[in-house]
Amino acid sequence: MARILIVEDEDRISSFLAKGLKAEGHVTTVVRDGRQGLDDALSGLHDLVILDIGLPGLDGFEVLDQLRSQGSKVPVIVLTARDSVTDTVSALEGGADDYMPKPFRFAELLARVRLRLRQAQADPATGVPERLDAGGVRLDLRPRRATVAGKEVDLSAREFMLTEIFMLNAGQVLSREQLLDHVWGLDFDPGSNVVDVYVGYLRKKFGAGSITTVRGMGYRFNA
Ligand code: CA
Repeated sequence: MARILIVEDEDRISSFLAKGLKAEGHVTTVVRDGRQGLDDALSGLHDLVILDIGLPGLDGFEVLDQLRSQGSKVPVIVLTARDSVTDTVSALEGGADDYMPKPFRFAELLARVRLRLRQAQADPATGVPERLDAGGVRLDLRPRRATVAGKEVDLSAREFMLTEIFMLNAGQVLSREQLLDHVWGLDFDPGSNVVDVYVGYLRKKFGAGSITTVRGMGYRFNA
C-alpha cells in the first residue's frame, strides 16, 4: 500500500487513475492545481507523485523544478502528450523519474508505478524523514516501527499512517476530513466515524493523553 498524489486537472483522467490505484490497494490524493500539487508533494506524506504537465497555477515543469530544488526526492511520473518529444526530454531532465505518454492504458501506468515504488523502497534517500519523535512516541519510518518509552508497539498499516500524519503535524489540529483524505482517501463518507475509531485505537496504544479532541475542529497529537 502506497500513498500516491495525483496532480491532474482533467477530472476524467484523475478519477480513472484514482479508481484504478485504489483497486490496487493504494491511497490516493487528487489535486487539480500545480501550486497545491507542489505543496502536497513537499509534505513528505506521499510515496509517489503522478504529475500532469498542463496545469493551472504552476505547470508540471515548474512543479518538478521547485520540488527538486527544494530537495524532495519523491518519485515522480510525468504525464506527457504522446506527440511531444520535447516535453518528455524536458521532464526527464527536470528530475522526473519516468514519463507516461497520454493517452495510456492503466496497465502501462501501473507497471511504472510498481517499478518506481520498488526502486524508492530500495533507495533510502526519498526525502521522507527516517524517524519522528513526539509525545514520547518514536516512529521509525523505515523499517515501519513504533516504540513508546523504548517498548515496541504493534500498529496496523492504517494506524501507522494515521500516527505518521499526526506526528508530522504534532501540536497542530487536524480535521477529520484531512485525516480521512490522507489515510483512507476521500471515497469515505465524511460522516463516517472511522477516524474516531482509529484515534481510540491509538490512544489505547500511546496513552489517553496522546491525542486531544478539539471540539468542532478535529484532533491534535500532543508533542
Ligand atoms: Ca492538463
